[in-house]
Amino acid sequence: MNDSPFSLAAPGVQQLKPYEPGKPVSELQRELGLQEIIKLASNENPFGSSPKAQQAAMDALQNLAEYPDGNGFALKQALAKKHHVDSAQITLGNGSNDILELVGRAFLTPEHAAVFSAHAFAVYPLVTQAIGAEMRIAPACAADSVTPFGHDLTAMQALIDARARVVFVANPNNPTGTWLRADDLYAFLKNVPDQTIVVLDEAYFEYVEEDDYPDGRRWLTEFPNLIVTRTFSKAHGLAALRVGYSLSSPEIADLLNRVRQPFNVNSVAQAAALAALDDEAHIATSRELNRQGLQQLTAACKTMGLQIIPSVANFLTIDVARPAEPVFQALLREGVIVRPIANYGLPSWLRVTVGSEQQNTQFLQALQKVLHA
Ligand SMILES: *Cc1c(COP(=O)(O)O)cnc(C)c1O
Repeated sequence: MNDSPFSLAAPGVQQLKPYEPGKPVSELQRELGLQEIIKLASNENPFGSSPKAQQAAMDALQNLAEYPDGNGFALKQALAKKHHVDSAQITLGNGSNDILELVGRAFLTPEHAAVFSAHAFAVYPLVTQAIGAEMRIAPACAADSVTPFGHDLTAMQALIDARARVVFVANPNNPTGTWLRADDLYAFLKNVPDQTIVVLDEAYFEYVEEDDYPDGRRWLTEFPNLIVTRTFSKAHGLAALRVGYSLSSPEIADLLNRVRQPFNVNSVAQAAALAALDDEAHIATSRELNRQGLQQLTAACKTMGLQIIPSVANFLTIDVARPAEPVFQALLREGVIVRPIANYGLPSWLRVTVGSEQQNTQFLQALQKVLHA
């Protein structure tokens, strides 16, 4: 049958492999009948969201019959104030994933290419392929470099030409946790031609403490082709509600808004995000506990003789020095969900989200047991 629905799909869609989310706790409970399960697989905040955000979400539940504010006026005002930009420079998304999709829709065509690194965030190839644009994947930094498997900006630069309409840069990157220094990233931006849009994905921005980690916001005026994306899903602990946004030139924001669904961010999400922005203390605590958790996990891996990729985000990527899939499966049976990342081209590595001290301990004990079984 040559008229199967599959053969009718757009060529890019036929080649897509759907995004693989972290395994939900409820699914593992059903499968194994286990009650005590910890999920360290999706880089969620183990300390949850701000109580202020929860209260705001509850209050917003009073108004479910009404459409949300399609322009997100209040949230954009608050973001504009916080980031010292104009409201017209902000685009709200149903998670920052949504923004990445909007960029693809607005700027990519089958005649154009998107450039990104090997081992970069899985959504970049998805967005590119869905549109049938060409994927140009730059080789990553060497395994023995200071940023193992991280973005190699020189290699990325080499793939940019007149056809390359979008370049995706994650800082820090997921699943490697590696990051780019201000000087290097600035030099890269200087070299990118004006006709190439740079998406600087800062999903883990709030967690990074390095002195020379750049805040992409500062370059918006100098580079009208720059789009900085942020999210409420990670440090703000609002992954369930799906809110992200971009900062860009007003011209780019206008284009992204043309392809956006009119009510892409619901009113509960808008209210919670607005309240979360006010709770700096919750972010500060989350960052502090994350730093301690990273130290705990890193030290334990060292003791166990396991290689890690030095991370500045809220996850750590660990080389289990054997196929990671069976290790992942064995950890599931211990009630611990982590993320195998063979689909990112790292088949002997597991990515673990930094949890609470107790969750980290539970993970480390399970890992120890599984590796020595
Ligand atoms: C988690 C993540 C995102 C976005 O998640 P949303 O929940 O859609 O905001 C974006 N980029 C990277 C690199 C991520 O890890």
